[in-house]
Amino acid sequence: MVPPMPESSSPLSRLLELSHQLGREDRRVAILGEGNTSTRLGADTFMVKASGSNLGSLSEAGVTECRFDPLLAMLKETRLSDEEIDERLLGARVSASARKPSTEAIFHAYLLTLPGVEFVGHTHPVAVNQILCSRHARLFARNRLFPDEIVCCGAESVFVPYTDPGLRLARALRAAVVAFVRRTGRPPRVILLENHGFIALGPSPESVLATTLMGVKAAEIFVGAAAAAGRPRFLTPANVARIAGRPDEHYRQKVLGL
Ligand SMILES: [Zn+2]
Repeated sequence: MVPPMPESSSPLSRLLELSHQLGREDRRVAILGEGNTSTRLGADTFMVKASGSNLGSLSEAGVTECRFDPLLAMLKETRLSDEEIDERLLGARVSASARKPSTEAIFHAYLLTLPGVEFVGHTHPVAVNQILCSRHARLFARNRLFPDEIVCCGAESVFVPYTDPGLRLARALRAAVVAFVRRTGRPPRVILLENHGFIALGPSPESVLATTLMGVKAAEIFVGAAAAAGRPRFLTPANVARIAGRPDEHYRQKVLGL
């Protein structure tokens, strides 16, 4: 399913391979300029898809290296105009000749600071969005249907109510992740954006692709189960806890800076 992406290959080639996999038309998770991917390069910088590039045919020219600090600093500012946000995005580039990073680079920067997160993949899957564009969105985020969904997508997903994409979304997303970790003590694997899309985070391109594909499968099963018999029958909290193991207190402390 997932072609080998040896750790010895460069971060750029692993990011491009992940992007090509997510951008395959038959997967129906991103078309045209939809979605974006990123990976951390070190303590100071990361690579993210440039604005308007296509995931399925992404090349080196469609990827921009950015510094974390200027983008993370934006999360603390509430009064930036759209023009100022664009200037900050351009100013975060390591090379002035690189293309403008995606406006979602702000949330990528934040997510890549979480412990254990090396790759992020954001998509707009048809199967998932048919639920996220319905009143069942939160129900889908909070519950689990089958064991492998827990293995790949975690015991629960972070849910972010619809927010204007860009800086506002990045700020809402960070608040939702912090609240999730405080409540569950677990690292999120999946973040669901109401009326928008799906984010998978993980230590490798393979994990991000696997989480995305399993999230799509869970969404298809959710819709099928609901069509067959109304509200799907979810795994019980005890079933979920048995598969997911105990909450990781250490993780909570790390993310919350305790
Ligand atoms: Zn999006």
